[in-house]
Amino acid sequence: MLSGLAKTSRSLSFRLTLWHAGLLVAAAVAALGTVYVELRNLTIARERETIDLRLGFLEAVYSRGGLDSVSDLVRRAEAGRDAAFFIQVTDAANRTLFSSNSPQWQPYTDGKLDHAPMPAPGRDAWTSLEGEDGTLRLAARRLGDDNVLRVGRATVESRRVLNAYEGIALTSLSILFPISLASGWFLSRRALSPLSTLTLAVQEIVATGRFSARVPTRGTGDEIDELVIYFNVMLERIEKLMTGLAESLDFAAHDLRTPLTRLRNSAEAALRDPLDQTALADALVACVEESERVLVTVRRLIELAAAEGGVARFERTPVDFLRLATEVMDLYREIAESKDVEVSVEASGSLVAQVDLDAFRRVISNVLDNAIKYTRLGTPVSIRLRRVDDEVVLDVADCGEGIAAEDLPHVWDRLYRARSSSAQPGSGLGLSIVRAVVEAHGGSVGARSEPGKGSVFTIRVPTG
Ligand code: ADP
Repeated sequence: MLSGLAKTSRSLSFRLTLWHAGLLVAAAVAALGTVYVELRNLTIARERETIDLRLGFLEAVYSRGGLDSVSDLVRRAEAGRDAAFFIQVTDAANRTLFSSNSPQWQPYTDGKLDHAPMPAPGRDAWTSLEGEDGTLRLAARRLGDDNVLRVGRATVESRRVLNAYEGIALTSLSILFPISLASGWFLSRRALSPLSTLTLAVQEIVATGRFSARVPTRGTGDEIDELVIYFNVMLERIEKLMTGLAESLDFAAHDLRTPLTRLRNSAEAALRDPLDQTALADALVACVEESERVLVTVRRLIELAAAEGGVARFERTPVDFLRLATEVMDLYREIAESKDVEVSVEASGSLVAQVDLDAFRRVISNVLDNAIKYTRLGTPVSIRLRRVDDEVVLDVADCGEGIAAEDLPHVWDRLYRARSSSAQPGSGLGLSIVRAVVEAHGGSVGARSEPGKGSVFTIRVPTG
């Protein structure tokens, strides 16, 4: 229970929810606070305006009818309902000549008016007197005969409005906080749910060791979708590597068993009659041949796994493909002559590309070896080299039986051997190594064939 709580509090959803709620409440506090300040300023300005108007009115009454007119007016107003204004007239020494006597002003004015500020002529003096329920805003004006007229108004009404506003603001905030928590939780869960799916997929892979699982994309094209797409691409690559590894192991188990059994049979046969020198020599020759075959296959498997898995370290240097092709052609001259096959090289343009020399020597050897192996006796094999844009393109053409249309797309697959070629020795690994090496260099491979007439294998390598 406790560890569950600790986990939740560490979760991204939880933190996003808190941030969301916090920011929303902070924004609301700022907005409500600004409105409160504006409202307060507005009410103060309105109170001052009202007091100012009253001052002006009473000043006019005073100047026309003197103190008596003012006192008459005030008494009459006070006799009616609650007087709206506190009125006081003092002489220049602040001695009271007339004052409102309604008891409602006592909490504000009792003993405080003696120290109230005296106005200069032409400049009203403003002050606030605090009472129990609020404030009395008070303005004093110097009259023409040097006496002072004071008009005051209690802020109870404005206070009530502001109090009501404070209540509304606090209620809004107390409603907003749980709502923002809930909406934050909902939004963060919704935004992060693809990550949970991703986590589930990873958990499944970790638990089962199967890399065939894929995380469904939502097609929104957002950042999480992009992550999911790359994650799936990564899974696909890992799956391909794992399958390749498993196939290589399968192949090693199946295809190495035959030559190794033959090797053991030869040795056992020779041991049955250890005195027969000729049989011993024959058996040793057979053993050497078989072990050579095993070694070649093992080497090719390792080469393929390294190139496909991206672990092969290719040392890229500028390689002149014309020189390289001529060198490989010379290596195969003897084999070609034994089949009465003439190999030729044609070249045009700059043929230098940044590749691994040894790896591409094997690439060209593999393709040329196939062409000589599968071409008919006495027919030519040609290597054509040309430059197309930023690529060096190499074609190896033969005049063999060709490859059936249904076999053609598969000749690059590992261990694939067309049915027509079962008479020829081979492992079905050569072209898959070619493809892996060329693709690891950013190039591409292709093959076209006309059954009965021959095949052309093409390799394209970027120069850079
Ligand atoms: P292999 O060791 O069997 O030659 P590769 O991977 O080099 O293995 O070739 C795969 C298959 O592609 C071959 O078994 C053969 O059926 C076909 N193939 C390759 N090159 C040629 C070619 N020049 N002409 C006809 N078939 C070919």
